[in-house]
Amino acid sequence: MKHREIQWHVVAFLLGYPLLFLAMLPFYLSSHGAPSLGMILTTIVLMLGCGLSITVGYHRYYSHKTYQLNPVIEFIMLCFGTLAVASTALKWSHDHRLHHKHVDTERDPYSIKEGFWHAHILWIFYKNNTWEESIIKDLFKNKMAVFQHRFYTPLVFGLNIGQILLVGWLTNDYIGAFLFTFLLRMLFIHHAMYSINSLAHYYGSQPYSSEHTAVNNWLISLITFGEGYHNFHHTFPYDYRNGVRWYQFDPSKMVIWALNKLGLASNLKKVSDFQIAKALIREDEKQIVKKIHMNQQLEPAKRNLLVEEIQNLAHELRTRLEIIQESAKQNVSNLTKEKSEKDETYRECLIEWYKICNQYLATEK
Ligand SMILES: [Zn+2]
Ligand SMILES: [Zn+2]
Repeated sequence: MKHREIQWHVVAFLLGYPLLFLAMLPFYLSSHGAPSLGMILTTIVLMLGCGLSITVGYHRYYSHKTYQLNPVIEFIMLCFGTLAVASTALKWSHDHRLHHKHVDTERDPYSIKEGFWHAHILWIFYKNNTWEESIIKDLFKNKMAVFQHRFYTPLVFGLNIGQILLVGWLTNDYIGAFLFTFLLRMLFIHHAMYSINSLAHYYGSQPYSSEHTAVNNWLISLITFGEGYHNFHHTFPYDYRNGVRWYQFDPSKMVIWALNKLGLASNLKKVSDFQIAKALIREDEKQIVKKIHMNQQLEPAKRNLLVEEIQNLAHELRTRLEIIQESAKQNVSNLTKEKSEKDETYRECLIEWYKICNQYLATEK
């Protein structure tokens, strides 16, 4: 068992402010009635700003460098990140890069292997003993991020007090501003953010890789601004998208895309469709082989034969995808014309693969 030093001021803050909210709410409702529409809308707008500053800013920009960002937007993101009391961009990225580098091991700061609640919130209560400055060397060159890191505490107080006073003055309701646009906003954003480390490593599917505990779950995406497609993200962390399909709910991806269209973000990194298809095939192959091995009703000889068949098919499919990818690379000039044909061919390969898999699974039953 690791010795961990508890940071009591962090415990008091993270457990104290939700209690303060719950204690004050009945008094507010009995004296003021329901909050005004203006107060509700302001709370929602601030929640969106804070949430997106973490996913679009802290996560996909600072931690993974999946695109380049205009300094004015970066400044706004840092302001909202500070307002969210979500730690500094440097500290957040440090912990997150460690999480990716050492996922599910002792060195993962919020490893799910230490339990759901550890990954959700308990890890924040402990003093971080695994500070690896080299992992964020590049971020120390970013003057804005370093400034936020150095003056974090006064900035948190200044911005939040300023925000409460401004909303209180505009709505003529200072208590409501404190309760909803500060306490409630922080409560929602904190636990949405924590859910990426707990729920998104707990409940869901693993279509891209089962080498790590990260899962895909569209429900989690609804409260985490698109971060619920965590299995894809851990498999391809340098892609600016988490919900890679057009129909997957990933507002952070849409914001980055929109910023790019407005000329405010550039160099959006994307993994190729071929890589994605190959990952899907690799994982399907792994899962089917596992099921064949586990099926005790099949004789060992039959089991080996089936495994061999599946492995050959997967290999053949991957080779065909590689040939298509290679020929697409070589024919750059004809690429646009050929693209739709290539897409069609590899889609056919995938359909064929799934048909075979499903046939096998049906006979197994
Ligand atoms: Zn994760
Ligand atoms: Zn990440």
